[in-house]
Amino acid sequence: ATVLLTGATGFIATQVVGVLLSRGFRVRGTVRTTEKGEYVKSLFKQAGDRFEYVIVEDLQKDDGFNDAVRGVDGILHVASPLYRTAPTGVWENIIEPAKRGTTSVLYAALRHNPNVKRIVITSSYQAVANYSLDPGTMAKEYALKMGKDLDPVGAYAASKAMAEEVAWEFMKTEKPSFDIVAILPPLVCGPILQPGTSPNTLNTSNFELWQLLTGNKEDASAFVRNNPTMPIVDVRDVALAHVEALLHPNAGNRRIAVTHSVHRYQELLDVIHDVPQLADQFPNASWGEPGTSNYDSLWYDMDATLSKEILGIEYRDWKETIIDATKSMIERGKEQ
Ligand code: NDP
Repeated sequence: ATVLLTGATGFIATQVVGVLLSRGFRVRGTVRTTEKGEYVKSLFKQAGDRFEYVIVEDLQKDDGFNDAVRGVDGILHVASPLYRTAPTGVWENIIEPAKRGTTSVLYAALRHNPNVKRIVITSSYQAVANYSLDPGTMAKEYALKMGKDLDPVGAYAASKAMAEEVAWEFMKTEKPSFDIVAILPPLVCGPILQPGTSPNTLNTSNFELWQLLTGNKEDASAFVRNNPTMPIVDVRDVALAHVEALLHPNAGNRRIAVTHSVHRYQELLDVIHDVPQLADQFPNASWGEPGTSNYDSLWYDMDATLSKEILGIEYRDWKETIIDATKSMIERGKEQ
């Protein structure tokens, strides 16, 4: 069977490619440039022609996915703009591509591939949590309230909520023969396979951790103090959940949170600090002081029951996630 994976170059998606190939699937990944496509192909060269890439430069282009969906058996729609790398203009460069990319994939399947039975969409905790900078307000409400003054972080949060919303609306209005599954991860960390040779090309969630370790001490301390607790999850478990969600019949039409446990950023730093071989690599890190968070209470948690019961995910220990993410970032840091 062949699976279409959008945004195959991404942090999560490159791990998904690995899981799909190890399960014997053929993978067609969409990428934005030939160079990145070739990188992913070389990463999985042992799979030979079981990995192929097609160029879809723009998530928003009408009919952009029409050719990509032809002949595939299932679709994983993972691509979406992240706030750190999107061009300025948050409504048109973050929110619109997230929404239109989702509808574009869904309509392509509806119109050009009657064999697709399931489409898995990467949503986010942002679709269900209150927006952290405006407690009591959901991300979409926050975005609408801020209008043209909306900041990139808020726009990203809203883009995830709104992209998932348009997918469920599509299901109601179009009643396609396929079903969908929304996967909702919180902060995803772990080993990095995605293309890039410097920390600047890290995806957003890993970059935050990298900045705490290598950035200005005052900024790092302020970040740790001013950010709420976050549930975290390992990228390898998220990748596995996407593939399992494609396969389990009773995952259909569900929203499935994939999450391990809730932590303060300070706790993530403590894990690294406690491993001398890792801590030594960051002599200028601000290791902070336990208990200095402004958020002493839990911001929110997520319930991973469905992911365990339906998808059979057995989560990795969160400390292993942080340690492996850090090792991977150190490797990337050396390539600068
Ligand atoms: P990455 O930035 O590594 O991956 C994003 C992918 O989307 C890349 O392949 C990127 O292509 C592609 N992309 C971004 N903008 C566009 C665009 N305008 N047009 C076409 N393609 C685009 O991030 P992650 O792997 O972390 O994120 C993958 C998915 O997981 C996203 O949907 C994200 O919202 C979601 N998610 C991530 C979380 C996390 O903590 N990492 C948490 C919750 C959800 P290119 O490589 O060319 O830039």
